[in-house]
Amino acid sequence: MDRQRIALLRREMRNRGVDAFIVSSVHNIRYLTGFSGSHGLCIVRSKNAVFLTDPRYKLQSKSEVRGCTRFITTTDLFEEAARRKVLSRCRRVAFESLHLTYAQYRQLRKLFSAVSFEPTSDVVENFTVVKNAEEVARITEAVEISDRVFADVVNKIRPGMKELDVAAEISYLHRRYGAEQDSFETIVASGPRGALPHARATSKRIRNGEFVILDFGCTKQGYSSDLTRTIAVGSVPQRGRRIYNSVLNAQQAAIESVRAGMRTKDLDAVARQRLASDGYGKYFVHSLGHGLGLQIHEKPRISRLSKEHLVEGSVVTIEPGVYIPEFGGVRIEDDVLVTETGCRVLSSAPKNLMIL
Ligand code: ZN
Ligand code: ZN
Repeated sequence: MDRQRIALLRREMRNRGVDAFIVSSVHNIRYLTGFSGSHGLCIVRSKNAVFLTDPRYKLQSKSEVRGCTRFITTTDLFEEAARRKVLSRCRRVAFESLHLTYAQYRQLRKLFSAVSFEPTSDVVENFTVVKNAEEVARITEAVEISDRVFADVVNKIRPGMKELDVAAEISYLHRRYGAEQDSFETIVASGPRGALPHARATSKRIRNGEFVILDFGCTKQGYSSDLTRTIAVGSVPQRGRRIYNSVLNAQQAAIESVRAGMRTKDLDAVARQRLASDGYGKYFVHSLGHGLGLQIHEKPRISRLSKEHLVEGSVVTIEPGVYIPEFGGVRIEDDVLVTETGCRVLSSAPKNLMIL
């Protein structure tokens, strides 16, 4: 599998007329080579590929890295690449402009003064949009774990409990059920704090009559889940019910509209128009969703500003929300696999308004 991915990169290199490609993003290195550590460098040439890392990862890289010659070094990875003449006879070399620092760029220019460096963006990222069966299986496993965690955690939430205690419970259960880690910092936002779409959990206590947004996910063999449910504690005012139903309807309408080939901005518009017709348009302050895979946020973006199209085989989130200052917020998020005729919803945590 990883050899095929490197072959894909070589094809792209030929199209761009470059002799080598420097991959410095750890996520892209993982995608291409299988290496799951946090420090490495991959340089792909037309006939060979090298992978460099430090001695901490000697054993791990031996078991994980495929399709590359490995070099373990205690010196700087770019200096080691120069010492081993990895770019000898290369005239044009591509690098990832979004993942290389200015200092590293200057270092490359100095170490390889005869080379012309070509900035690129989103080359490997574009390969990751379509998931293969194995990737879908890993994401599905991660989603199933998060579904199970939700079912458990709603039985533990009580008035008086701190948001941080709920977040700790979610992290603990993720690991208990076989995940490696949370895929991002768990969001637990109760009452007025729900108006902050990306509120971290705090020591605030959950009170009767509040909505609580739970946005969480885990990784399974590196692949992420991303799930949001909003639950109520004690009671819900009429206004809260209206908002909840509006978000749920917008989310379902969007899920039903998913089709391979459609523009992602048109999908975003389905949810946005629903919320606007209920009077909540201006309170939906973020985009509808994002791709999901080795990273929690991948391509495509499902946003008003995106020029991308939905592709069969990609996994995306559908997550409309309404955020009203001082009142709070509601967000509902599922993960779906885009199919030729629609989508398969991977998450199955219940979406009827739960009042604990
Ligand atoms: Zn989320
Ligand atoms: Zn998300």
